[in-house]
Amino acid sequence: MSMVSHLHHLFNPETCQSYIHTLRWKDRPFQCPRCQSHNVGPWGTYHYQPGLNRYRCKEQACKRTFNDLTGTLLDGSKRSMMHWILATFLLCLACSSRRIAREVGVHVRTSYRWCWWLRNAGLAYEMHRQLEGTVEADDLYHTAGHKGQAKQGGKKSLGRRPRGRRKKREPGRGHYDKDRPAIIAWVSRQGAVVIQATRDFTVQTVQKAADLAVQAGSRLYTDSASSYRALKGYVHDYVNHTQKEYARGDVHENRAECLFSLLKPYLRVFRGISKTNLPGYVGFFQFLRNFRQLTAFEQAEMILYAALDPAIASRARQGDFVKCLDHFNLLQTASCDPLAERR
Ligand SMILES: [Zn+2]
Repeated sequence: MSMVSHLHHLFNPETCQSYIHTLRWKDRPFQCPRCQSHNVGPWGTYHYQPGLNRYRCKEQACKRTFNDLTGTLLDGSKRSMMHWILATFLLCLACSSRRIAREVGVHVRTSYRWCWWLRNAGLAYEMHRQLEGTVEADDLYHTAGHKGQAKQGGKKSLGRRPRGRRKKREPGRGHYDKDRPAIIAWVSRQGAVVIQATRDFTVQTVQKAADLAVQAGSRLYTDSASSYRALKGYVHDYVNHTQKEYARGDVHENRAECLFSLLKPYLRVFRGISKTNLPGYVGFFQFLRNFRQLTAFEQAEMILYAALDPAIASRARQGDFVKCLDHFNLLQTASCDPLAERR
């Protein structure tokens, strides 16, 4: 029996709380979250969360109290700040929610909920990403089905025979309805990446995906797939894999293929992915990849910083950021159009 089975026992509650306090008010005005008044003062502490300070709004019409967590993603959590910091750190190390539940010492459902909230908070940084300059593109088909339980619990009705693992799959390109949606990666030679999970790989889908991911007029290098060749608005060149041509001088898509070699083991950790969750996983991988020069803890700090912004927190709880990056509905009139949001 180990003396310390959970890492958070080594942490100091006061240090964690003051760290959260610093992150909460760093670059944000110290004000009442209800009436935005700056006329606030200290108002004691809480016995159940050591180090958490309480404040009171001195405005006559308000007079309400608040603390460092009011309105944030961590508001109302019975778990300590150590649990949250550690869970975010493990999330950035590509741990599954079950692994996080074990290591942090919370229930599986708690950790699953936290993971999706925190992934959404991280995606707040990726909402307006668009590449420019020289961009490579490649596509991949990933098996994603109906993992998970039915809403009311128990078995989900599939409406078809179970696919069976490791069975030979249908011939031809993948499609959302065949449980093999396409993933398109756009990799800028300057380093930034955009990864989209799309329904299919038709000309229209790829055109719309490109419009979202890459600035018009950029230089595109791809393989010889016809959907890429039909792209409009870009300077386009391609290599022909069928003729065993993988690079012609500067023209190649090796970075995009390399990105997939990193994405595949990342997704394998989650042991089969549901179609509804694929955009979220892929989007969070994009976040990790775009901030790869940072350590996992620095990435976790970015996520916590976003999670402590009440405006981001309320959207993250709803899963709003994943919904906006859900490119399965690329051709439908989506309620949240990423292009409209960018304008
Ligand atoms: Zn107030």
